Amino acid sequence: MVKKLAGLFRKEIQRQHAYTLKHYEGVIKLDQNELPWDLPASLQAKWRKRLQGAHLNRYPEVQPEALRRALAKKFRMQPEQVLVTNGSNVLIQAITLATAVGAKVMAPEPSFALYRMNAEGLGNRFIPMALQRKDFSWDLPEVLQQIRKHQPKVIFIPNPNAPTGNLFPIADIEKILQAAKGLVVVDEAYRQFSGVSLVKKISRYPHLACLHTFSKGYGLGGARVGYMLARAEVVEQVSKAVVPYGVTRFSEAAALLAVANDQAIDREIGKILSERERVFTKLRELKGVEVFPSAGNFLLFRVKDAKKCFRHLLKRGVLVRDQSSYPKLQGCLRVTIGTPKENGLFLRAMAAYRG
Ligand code: PMP
Repeated sequence: MVKKLAGLFRKEIQRQHAYTLKHYEGVIKLDQNELPWDLPASLQAKWRKRLQGAHLNRYPEVQPEALRRALAKKFRMQPEQVLVTNGSNVLIQAITLATAVGAKVMAPEPSFALYRMNAEGLGNRFIPMALQRKDFSWDLPEVLQQIRKHQPKVIFIPNPNAPTGNLFPIADIEKILQAAKGLVVVDEAYRQFSGVSLVKKISRYPHLACLHTFSKGYGLGGARVGYMLARAEVVEQVSKAVVPYGVTRFSEAAALLAVANDQAIDREIGKILSERERVFTKLRELKGVEVFPSAGNFLLFRVKDAKKCFRHLLKRGVLVRDQSSYPKLQGCLRVTIGTPKENGLFLRAMAAYRG
């Protein structure tokens, strides 16, 4: 960067790599943990109809109240305990801004890159919870000791973890809640696939917050809606760090329809789970491939040369995610579970791979 311009930007930002993802045309997209199918046509038609009466000259509400009420009802909470934003990414940033600037932030490593990125961008010291290389579990006594020593202002725990796919035991997370003085944020982005949630524990632990998204199990990655569930006092403080008017009327209408029809959407999740088992079993049979069990809609696997395998799959029209530059993930790629046909093409391409 030109020296004069470099002086304009904080060193924490200059040090970071921007979050980017290369776009490929005409490939089978198994790189972003999306659902492989769109919202059912009947719901899409309803969505379009609802938009007909929307006034584009008017701002949306600061908080989309109808969606807040619908989510509160679903989780048997109060609307004041729900904070809706344009994607849960935004919540990770807002929580960090509201709790930790120039302090300490903790999260497992490897895990979702934005915890570290937001922490360091705001001048925090990032404390990685070390995970075991063999199965990405944590050493609980060691983690508890780290918490007592550093007392981070916020701890992010993705459950299941991404991109590794493993679940952390609820009993362990409760021990962490008991040891931590800062906010403990359990990121349940993949909850529909894991069937595990800590939402019911919010009444017991005032410093617990759960993050959910419409991007994964609801299949609304394009709508950009996420939300936090927590004590009303936590919601109130974090809301101050959220840029207003992020959730458009289009997004709110789509999310509302998804919540109202979530039983039908959930039934489809079963297809992803049985495909996940099939892909896991087939991958495990391949020589030179180590695959890790997952509670999400994706599988992490290790080969000798991740970049070579990535290129091989791409040549055959299958796009996966290269995770090999993350700590402890040398040789690792991540594949999203798609339709049976897409998974079949991925498996055939893998069977033809000579590492
Ligand atoms: N948390 C985790 C663990 C994720 O994997 C993702 C998406 N990759 C997110 C949060 C962000 O989701 P959203 O689309 O709601 O911003």
